[in-house]
Amino acid sequence: ESLDKGLEKTKDGFFSKLSRVVAGKSKVDDEILDELEEILITSDVGVETTIKIIQRIEERVAKDKYLNTTELDRILREEIAELLSENNSEDLTEFTLPSTHKPHIILVVGVNGVGKTTTIGKLAAQFKKQGKSVVLGAADTFRAAAVDQLKLWGERIDVPVVAHGMNTDPSAVAFDAVKKGVEMGADLIIVDTAGRLHTKVNLMNELIKIKRVMQKFMPEAPHEILLVLDGSTGQNAFMQAKEFTKATEVTALAITKLDGTAKGGVVIGISDQFKIPVKYIGVGEKVGDLQVFNKAEFVDSLFK
Ligand code: GDP
Repeated sequence: ESLDKGLEKTKDGFFSKLSRVVAGKSKVDDEILDELEEILITSDVGVETTIKIIQRIEERVAKDKYLNTTELDRILREEIAELLSENNSEDLTEFTLPSTHKPHIILVVGVNGVGKTTTIGKLAAQFKKQGKSVVLGAADTFRAAAVDQLKLWGERIDVPVVAHGMNTDPSAVAFDAVKKGVEMGADLIIVDTAGRLHTKVNLMNELIKIKRVMQKFMPEAPHEILLVLDGSTGQNAFMQAKEFTKATEVTALAITKLDGTAKGGVVIGISDQFKIPVKYIGVGEKVGDLQVFNKAEFVDSLFK
């Protein structure tokens, strides 16, 4: 299975360490809990979430003083699943669009290099494959490369890409993309944005403006604000989540590059800390390497 393959490094980093910690010991003691804490932190679960998990396990150890180390796997798995459930109530098994409105409009945010363009291309490809009509908007007008790359994806998967010249108004691109999508009777419109974080006020104003022009067509647009984070960047991903959630109402996360990291704990920590569901995970560079986030599958793959 590609999910297992994609997450192999995550698994190795996380749970082979756990088995080394408990090797030769039969009872869960403080030393094991300390080491577990360290494993979680070095796996980028984040301090807050790690403390939460350890506390929950401590409570269970307190209830059952002779808790066997062979059960630690199961308990940790249950606690991670529980934690993920708190922010990921939906269990996604396939790429779906809501049936309540059309077109569905997704605004994509995230800093440069995290895999934003690639994620948009992969996502568009999935819906295109289902026979859905998709329009992309290249509103990252600050980087010629971003526009070119999105156009390339458009050609590759036969999806129209709305783009203007460099340094033009991103909200004008968003306007034209939504206009085109509405005129075409499209099912899905995905709009890329510039990934600048250094001036938060600018970012905020730009996103407000983009949202406002979208709302001229559909008052409830954008239906989703998807934040793309690179799962291999650990604390940077946490920082970006913090900044973007301050700048706009992020409704879902796409966490990329989980194939290239031994630190997939970001998925657990970020979802918990920011109370935002993880909707997609990227496990490679190819068009098929985007998956809907299924928490049961994710936890399973961690413990296989
Ligand atoms: P952007 O600047 O945020 O738009 O980032 P890009 O979409 O250009 O991606 C940056 C690089 O990351 C590219 O080389 C992508 O192929 C690569 N990339 C994106 N997603 C993934 C992923 O899930 N796994 C791996 N291994 N690489 C990825």
